[in-house]
Amino acid sequence: MDPIRIAVVGMGKIARDQHLPSIARNADFALVASVSPRDPGVEDIANFKSLETLLADGPAIDAIALCTPPQVRYELAAMALDKGVHVFLEKPPGATLAEVDALEAHAAGAGATVFAGWHSRFAAGVAPAKAWLADRRIERVSIVWREDVRVWHPGQAWIWEPGGLGVFDPGINALSIATEILPQPFFLTSATLSTPANRAAPIAADLTFRSNAGTPISMDLDWRQTGPQSWDIVVETDAGTLSLAKGGAVLTLPSGTVHNDDEEYPGLYARFASLIRDRRSEVDTTPFTLVADAFLRGTRQSVEAFDD
Ligand code: NAP
Repeated sequence: MDPIRIAVVGMGKIARDQHLPSIARNADFALVASVSPRDPGVEDIANFKSLETLLADGPAIDAIALCTPPQVRYELAAMALDKGVHVFLEKPPGATLAEVDALEAHAAGAGATVFAGWHSRFAAGVAPAKAWLADRRIERVSIVWREDVRVWHPGQAWIWEPGGLGVFDPGINALSIATEILPQPFFLTSATLSTPANRAAPIAADLTFRSNAGTPISMDLDWRQTGPQSWDIVVETDAGTLSLAKGGAVLTLPSGTVHNDDEEYPGLYARFASLIRDRRSEVDTTPFTLVADAFLRGTRQSVEAFDD
């Protein structure tokens, strides 16, 4: 079978760190172009300043991976779907919930695939955690995501702008895992969003959720963490405590710890290929809905201005 001819759109950090190596390792795909307004692209691959130019003048493509900031995702995805080109949306899948719904309908009408990828769901510990929790009684859940924004998002102006999500940019990864592994759906009960006086998006947030079964879930997000970083989920159950550390990569069960290699992006590309071949889309907006609810329902407080 011919490989899927793919273009990477938005040649920033995640495109270079993860998408390009994963495409290179996957025989189902052939990288044929890149798009980035300012980035020069990579050797031997045609680079275009805009997706419009690629679609008009470039080599034929079957798919794109959209690695831009979320605020420009909808227009680019819609432009590709108009041409029947399959679309992989980096997380978060858009800047609003309704535009993501519109893309799913658009893809169905165009006979193309849209895949809203949640990379953390492909972390090594997530599937075994889900299986272990499936028939447990969940008593309490704690999510702690504390990292240093200066280390992980240096100079990314878009992340502080409306639609950039602020600390929910990493926080939504935690929610993508929690919504995958917990056996019952859950919903927001309270939130406090702390936003720097000179920014539009929060630098920290304290949230509480409750599952349909009444289980309390707490979530502590903070971008001001220096020193050790935390990407931890702890689930107390009737059969002991499960913990997922390092963003889902390291699973500890009462019987011991399972370490595994990082397979997030290879897993995403394997799923994208199979969705294209099966002519299906996969768009789960549950983590995004919980974030939107925090913005809808949360108390706002202004905190010290933040400069990079
Ligand atoms: P980034 O380093 O700021 O890169 C974004 C890139 O998008 C920039 O290089 C920019 O290109 C390009 N871009 C902006 N507008 C564009 C347009 N209209 N057409 C084509 N390209 C455009 O951001 P990032 O960290 O890679 O994050 C991108 C997305 O991936 C975000 O949604 C983020 O949540 C997600 N993500 C990031 C990470 C991570 O570790 N960084 C991990 C997982 C997921 P120019 O430089 O050419 O202007």
